[in-house]
Amino acid sequence: MAHLPYSTSQTGLVYDVRMRFHVEVRPEVNQGVHPEDPRRIYAIYKELVDAGLVDDPNTVSLAPSVLARIPARFVTKKEVCAVHSERVWDLVISLEHWDNDLLHEAGSNMDSIYLSKNTPMCARLSAGGAIEACRGILNGHVKNAIAVIRPPGHHAEHNEPMGFCLFNNVPIAVKACQKEFGDACRKVLILDWDVHHGNGVQQAFYKDPNVLYISLHVHQGGKFYPAGPAGDHLHCGEGPGAGMNVNIPWRTAGMRDADYLLAFQRIVMPIAQDFNPDLVVVSAGFDAAEGDMLGKCHVSPAGYGHMTRMLMSLADGKIAVCLEGGYNLRSIAISALAVTRTLMGEPPGRIANAVPTPSGVDTVEEVLRQQAKYWPCLFPRNPSERTRELKAERLHDIVRDYQAAWLWENLGMSSLFIAHSKASRSFKNQVLATPNHAEARPLLVIFHDPPELTGDTDPRTRELQLHNTWLTDSVKQYLQWAVDQGFAVIDINIPKHLTEVDDNHEYAEEADAQQRIDETELLAKYLWENYIELSDASHMFLMGVGQAYSSLIGFLKKNDRCRERVDKIFGFISDSCALPSYRATTDDFLDRWYKDKSKIFVAQNHYVWERHKTKAPSRKWGSLQKSDGNDMQEMLSHHVKEVTGILGVEVEHWQSDAPMAGASEGEA
Ligand SMILES: [Zn+2]
Repeated sequence: MAHLPYSTSQTGLVYDVRMRFHVEVRPEVNQGVHPEDPRRIYAIYKELVDAGLVDDPNTVSLAPSVLARIPARFVTKKEVCAVHSERVWDLVISLEHWDNDLLHEAGSNMDSIYLSKNTPMCARLSAGGAIEACRGILNGHVKNAIAVIRPPGHHAEHNEPMGFCLFNNVPIAVKACQKEFGDACRKVLILDWDVHHGNGVQQAFYKDPNVLYISLHVHQGGKFYPAGPAGDHLHCGEGPGAGMNVNIPWRTAGMRDADYLLAFQRIVMPIAQDFNPDLVVVSAGFDAAEGDMLGKCHVSPAGYGHMTRMLMSLADGKIAVCLEGGYNLRSIAISALAVTRTLMGEPPGRIANAVPTPSGVDTVEEVLRQQAKYWPCLFPRNPSERTRELKAERLHDIVRDYQAAWLWENLGMSSLFIAHSKASRSFKNQVLATPNHAEARPLLVIFHDPPELTGDTDPRTRELQLHNTWLTDSVKQYLQWAVDQGFAVIDINIPKHLTEVDDNHEYAEEADAQQRIDETELLAKYLWENYIELSDASHMFLMGVGQAYSSLIGFLKKNDRCRERVDKIFGFISDSCALPSYRATTDDFLDRWYKDKSKIFVAQNHYVWERHKTKAPSRKWGSLQKSDGNDMQEMLSHHVKEVTGILGVEVEHWQSDAPMAGASEGEA
């Protein structure tokens, strides 16, 4: 056959009305229509017809080019059994002889499956349709294709239909084409953008070096369907298939275009280009689409168009898009139309919001760190292997050691003993104090986050170089001032991560915010009982920087008698920090006291200002002051004068009564 120029070649369409006949024999009365609704494929087909893309006998098409119809056919037993056990084939085929009671009962005993007499026909057409879509492309009859098929396939496992899926259409098509076309279809990329993990596809090719499976799905730590760890980022393939399984498991629902595009730009496309497939097959569920009741994500038709467009740059444009899930009839119709138009050569629509969610960024980074072990095209390389071998140390421990040395040399501060149930290097030097911390003089206690590092990384290795890296610690200014005034000082560093005694050198996420708040509260209680309460301090000043402020307030709420000794509380709240309230139903004066004693600097962008645009915040939030900035270190630096001014006024009498205030008793 003559090779047609790419631009004039058509996009193929597989659609067969008979695939609508797989229905529930006994719909659950109270549960409405089952989400895997037979109308799903018709909704898409109708949308394509209305757009003038189908040469349908009932309409006149005005479009310059139309889709080339590819007939679906029945899949054979041999084709199915390249992926499934004979048991699955026999079970599905036998259904046409079952009576309705048996069909209903058998379906309700399976994992998210319904069965009918027509199920075998539909399942065979669906898998056969996927095969024919791919064959049409590989034979050169069409340049690419979309298969509007059901039931879906990607959950169906070797020996187990599940999750609305009977035969696993896409793997069946891939195996059939690899067999028929040999070297012309040796390496296949299966890209699965259905909102659920394609556990069946992963299983089918887990040890296969010739099929790269990439799935983007909501995972929610294994709580989202199909529940369990199989869809996590650590499942990367086995043996010769190591690295050929790429899970991009979203931690939360609510993902949008920008998250998918980020994953495509950073992970999917670099890996896919490196893999260099002969054919791309998309497991195209549209249940991550805006409006889907199961997926609860926000991918727009334009978003699907952009993903399609990027995949079309692979495998000389040989791409087959096969329908999987997607349960909002309107959403799947407009999404599939956008994909089809893109396949036909139209540019995809515009993306409304190009900013990914923080949770999406976290997932992409997590997958990059994992997959960089297998794919040299991905940077950064995961450094853990090398640093483990070279016995490198975590910088946050080194920095705290340095701070301890600096505070000892310049301010005479040294480590206070803290009893911990857990052994960790991170507790070393966590609490530092001046030697006069128990004396009759003002005491300033500061709880704060570790100092900040900023720097430009090497563009390829992402390594930080010491000469381009800066350590910012604005808390030091407060410590210095207080010591100069003759105050006693206790400085508490709240680590964001506890270095295990057996450090595995893997990337460490910040400890869970609530867990840190709780632990800090316990530490505050310990310090209070063992040191602060026993001191003869003339004045007591508390300061909480960042999350530590919530812990301070939490501690005070639970320990009434501490409150009586506190003269002033200072807080620094950045835009990502929660602002704690202080009120008790049993004590009307508590919020009054709090408002009077507190001074809280809150980042300019903090939500509290949005909420209190028109009326002043209530007393329970304390005495709030809007800061000029949002950066914690900058905020600390900007407000040194105000805070030290307030402290100066508070201790005026003490300073005039005690002329030797500057020196500690031992030296006097
Ligand atoms: Zn799905």
